[in-house]
Order: sequence, then structure tokens, then C-alpha cells
Amino acid sequence: LLLQGGATLQFSMVPMNLLTGGQRGAYVLSGSWAAKAFEDASLLGDAYPAWDGEASRFDRMPAPGDVEVTAGTRYLHVTSNETIGGIQMWEWPAASVPLVGDMSSDIMSRPVPWEHFDLVYAGAQKNLGPAGATVVIARSSVVDASPDGLGAYLRYDVHRDKGSLYNTPPVFAIWVLGKTLRWVQAQGGVAAMAALAAAKAGLVYEAIDGSGGFYRSPVAEGSRSLMNVVFRLPSEDLEQEFLTAATAGGLVNLEGHRSVGGVRASLYNAMPMAGAEALVDFMAGFRARHA
Ligand code: PMP
Repeated sequence: LLLQGGATLQFSMVPMNLLTGGQRGAYVLSGSWAAKAFEDASLLGDAYPAWDGEASRFDRMPAPGDVEVTAGTRYLHVTSNETIGGIQMWEWPAASVPLVGDMSSDIMSRPVPWEHFDLVYAGAQKNLGPAGATVVIARSSVVDASPDGLGAYLRYDVHRDKGSLYNTPPVFAIWVLGKTLRWVQAQGGVAAMAALAAAKAGLVYEAIDGSGGFYRSPVAEGSRSLMNVVFRLPSEDLEQEFLTAATAGGLVNLEGHRSVGGVRASLYNAMPMAGAEALVDFMAGFRARHA
């Protein structure tokens, strides 16, 4: 389905459509985006945390066995990539219930084990195209089960039955999304995107790990995101200096999210290898001047 309202509207539509008949939604609390999904689900239905990363300051994803799902659970909600925290799920939870995934910031960057998922959603604006379109990929059985009592726009079956043309669609966003998919296909598809992502992020993590502690990743090694590489410098003053000098050198938008600070290199599909190379060159030069 091609919808509007961003991934944010899916924080509500998922529980509205799936948590029927007293069923519960389990949430992996892996960071700020998962928290927002959980907050909305808690308002609209019976939701509970199946794992909470707060104790480890959201520096990692759960190991598959860490997640606890109770009886009567309809789905386990996961955020495959925490865009702000810079952690990515590399091992899917071993749950007895279907997964629902917010893949806003890593969709189309790696293969998805679809057999585990009842529904996946993603705002388009990272790897799919411009903001304004939201992709929802769901099983027919899920879409068929939209409950009565929801407004039309909030029902998955209404959008499916109208071919995602129930109301005026964001045609420009969808048109560019189509072009982006063709571009991905021409590059070699998801497999090529995955290889490129690993190469780009690998370069930056190497620069961090090889910096003798000047650059520091706050993220557990097994949960490192290939899409959003976050790192710190020895002080916030140096971080400011780094960001200012980077911007002056044409490397823009490297600020960490305002809620966490630090540096964040977002390496979405559209970022070429040359972008990552330019960043690590700059990092080496900056370290040489300041270490
Ligand atoms: N989930 C994740 C993982 C995100 O990164 C974002 C946006 N950065 C959202 C949800 C919210 O998406 P939207 O702005 O499309 O509502």
C-alpha cells in the first residue's frame, strides 16, 4: 500500500487494525522511534514492552532470546534500524508470534526475511524517495481483518480495495519512488544496496576503530547500523569544531539528532561510496590536527 501520514501514522494504524478482540501488542523498546510506536499503541490498545533497552542506554538490539512475549499477543513490533541511536537489528527475535516491522530507515538496504513478518511499514524519505509517501507491505490475511468502527482512511482493507487510490494520492512522491526503485534495480537490487551499505559504513567504522580512541562509537559492535553511523569525539567542543569544519568542507548534515548530540553520518542508499571516502579523509585530517 502507498499511504500518507508517514511512518508516524502507522504507529496508530498498526494497533488499530491488528489489536482486535483483546489481543496484545508486544514492543521491542530499542530507542526513540520504538518508544513512539509503543506510546501510540498503548493509547489505542493493550501494548507491553517485550524487551527494554533503556538499562543499556539503547546501545544495542536485543539478542533473539532476550525478547519475552506473553500469551494473547498478536504481534511483536520491532524497529529494524533506530535512526537516532544508530543501532540496527541483525538477528531477528525468535518470537512465537508474527513480527511487525518499522523499517523506515533501512528498507531496501538489505534482504528481509518476509516469512517472519505480518506487516512492514516505512516512510519513503530515506531509501525510497521523497517524503510524502509511506509504504505498507502486509499479508492479505492482515488486511482482510481490518475491524469495523475505524474511519475509512485508517483501514488497510479500504486502501487495498482501492489500489491505494482511496483519496488523492501524493503523485509526485509516488512517481519518484517508482524511479528510485528502478534505479535500485539497475544497480543490482537489494543485494547490491546491501553490499554498498556494508562497504560505506565499514569505512567509517574502520576510521572510528582505528582512531586510537579519538572517535568513539557508543554502540555495541553487533548492533552497529550501516545506515546511521553515530560517533563521539573527546569533547562536545571538539564535536562542534568537527561539525563546523566538516560543513565548511562541504560535508553537511553530520549533526547527531538534537536529542543525543554527537555526530551522525547517515549513509542511505543514495549516498555514493565517494561520500563515505570523503568523510573518512576528513576524519583523518581532523584527528591529525587535534589528537
Ligand atoms: N520510524 C523511524 C525508524 C524513523 O527514522 C522515522 C523518521 N525519521 C519515523 C519512524 C517517523 O517517520 P515519518 O517522519 O515518516 O512519520
